[in-house]
Amino acid sequence: MGKEIIIGVIPVIIAFLVFIGVNVAPLIIAAMIISFLAFFVMRQGGMSIGQKKTTVETPKTKVKFNQIGGQERAKKELREALDFLIHKDTLKEYGIRPLKGLLLTGPPGTGKTLMAKAAANYTNSAFVAASGSQFVEMYVGVGAQRIRDLFKEAKQKAEKNNQESAIIFIDEIDVLGGKREGSQHREYDQTLNQLLTEMDGITTSEHPRILMIAATNRADMLDDALLRPGRFDRQIVVDLPDMKARKQILEIHVKNKPLADDVDIEAIARDTFNFSGAQLESVTNEAAIYAFRDKSKVITQSHFSHAIDKVMMGEQTDRESTAEERERVANHELGHAIVSEVVRPLSVSQVSLRPRGQALGYVRQSPQQDRYLYTLENLEQQIMIALGGAVAEEMLYGGRSTGSRNDFEQALHLVNTIIDSGLSRLGIVKMDMVGKEALHEERQRILNDLLDSTRKVLTEHFPVFQHALNHLLREEVLNGEQFRIMLEEARALPKQSKVEEIEARRMKA
Ligand code: ATP
Repeated sequence: MGKEIIIGVIPVIIAFLVFIGVNVAPLIIAAMIISFLAFFVMRQGGMSIGQKKTTVETPKTKVKFNQIGGQERAKKELREALDFLIHKDTLKEYGIRPLKGLLLTGPPGTGKTLMAKAAANYTNSAFVAASGSQFVEMYVGVGAQRIRDLFKEAKQKAEKNNQESAIIFIDEIDVLGGKREGSQHREYDQTLNQLLTEMDGITTSEHPRILMIAATNRADMLDDALLRPGRFDRQIVVDLPDMKARKQILEIHVKNKPLADDVDIEAIARDTFNFSGAQLESVTNEAAIYAFRDKSKVITQSHFSHAIDKVMMGEQTDRESTAEERERVANHELGHAIVSEVVRPLSVSQVSLRPRGQALGYVRQSPQQDRYLYTLENLEQQIMIALGGAVAEEMLYGGRSTGSRNDFEQALHLVNTIIDSGLSRLGIVKMDMVGKEALHEERQRILNDLLDSTRKVLTEHFPVFQHALNHLLREEVLNGEQFRIMLEEARALPKQSKVEEIEARRMKA
C-alpha cells in the first residue's frame, strides 16, 4: 500500500517542481543512481532491507526420530545431547555448561538434515536452516551480517511460537568454517568470526536457548577454532546405512506406496550396498515411476530392480549398437558373471545388456553380507571378476576392446589396495617409499597371476558362453536365478575339449 502511495506522489511532486520552474534533471539522475545502488545491494542480499532471507523457510518441523531409518547410534547420541537442552534445571544443579554446538559428520544424503529437524521436534524448538555456501559473498561484512540475522531470526521464531529453545542448522559448514591458512584474509573469516562470537554469547540463562547443529562431509577440513570445547565439541557420525538400516529406510519410504506381493524388501536392501538414505528414497520413488509408466496398479520387484540400476548407473540410454558389438558386450558381461558366480556363489544379481549411463552392459553383484574388511582372497576375487570381461573377449575374439577400460581401472585400484595394506610380496610398505620399478613389477605380477586364474575359470566354464549368449541377447536381462540355472545346465553338458572348442570359436570369429 505504502509503495503505491509513493509511486503516485512522486510524479505529482516532479510535475509541481517543473511547473514552478525548478530544474529537476539533477534530482532525477541522483534518484536513478540511488535506486540502482539499492537494487544492486539488495540483490547481493547484503542489508536487511529487501530482506533476502538467508534461511530456508521451514514451518514447524514434524520429522520424528522414528521416521529416520537405521542410524541407531547417532540417534541415541543425539537424543542424549538433546536431553541436556530439555532438562536445563539439572544442568544448573550440576554446574554443567550448556551444550552449544553439535556437529553431524558423514557422507551426503545420510540423513543429517533429517536428524536436525527431528532434534527440533524432540526438543520442541524453533528450527531455522541455512547452508554454508549462502554466507560466502563477494562483499566484506555481508556474511557476518547474515549470521547475526540468523540468530535474530531463530530467537524471534521461538518467541513467536512460544518455544523455549531454537535450533539453528547450518549445512555444509566446511564452506564457511574451513581451515584458515597463515595470515591470508578472506571474507568468510569475518563470517566465521561472527559465528564464533555468537556461539560464545550463548548462555544457560538465555531465553530462548539456542543450539547450533552443523553438518559436513569433511570434518577434517574444519578450522580448529570451530571444534574447540564450548563450540562444536560434540561430533556425531552419521554413516552410510548397513543392511539392516537399509531395510528400515526402504520400509519407511514404501509405506505410502502400493506394493505387489512379490516385492522382497530384504533382497532390495541386499542389492543396495553402499547406497545412502537419499539414494534408497530415490529407488522407491523411481520404482513407483516405473510402475506408473507401465500402467501397473502395484509396484513389482522388477520395477525396483530397474530403479536400483537407474540410481546406480543412470538413466537407460538409446545407444544403438551393431549386432557384433552387442554380441561382444554380451560375452564380456557373461565373462564377469561367470567368474563372479564361480568365486563367490550366489553373488550375481543381474546380467544386463541395456545400456545405462556410460555402460553398454553391466553385471550387478549382490553381496550376501555387507563387508567392511577385506582379506587378500576377497580382493583377489574382486580383481578376477573385474578382469573376467576382458579375458572373455580375449578368448572369444582373440583380443580386448576399449570396453574394459573401467574394469582395468577398478582392478588397478584394488591392486594398489593390496600393496598399500601390506598384503603383497613387498610386505608392509608405504607406496611413495617403494621404487617405481619395484612397484610396477609387483603390480604386473599380481595382475598377471590373476589374469591366469581368470582364464582358468573361464576355460573351465566355457560352454556357459554358448548356452547363455542367445538367451541374453534375446531377453536383454537375466536375473541372478536365471543365470545360475544356465550355469548349472552348462556344467551338466558333456565335457569336450574346451581348448579345442575355444580355438574353433576363435577361428569362426
Ligand atoms: P547432505 O549432506 O547432502 O545435505 P543429508 O545427510 O543432510 O545430505 P538429508 O537431506 O537428511 O541428507 O536426506 C535427504 C533425504 O534422504 C531425506 O529427505 C530422506 O528422504 C532420505 N533419507 C536420508 N537418510 C534417511 C534415513 N536414515 N531414513 C529415512 N530417510 C532418509
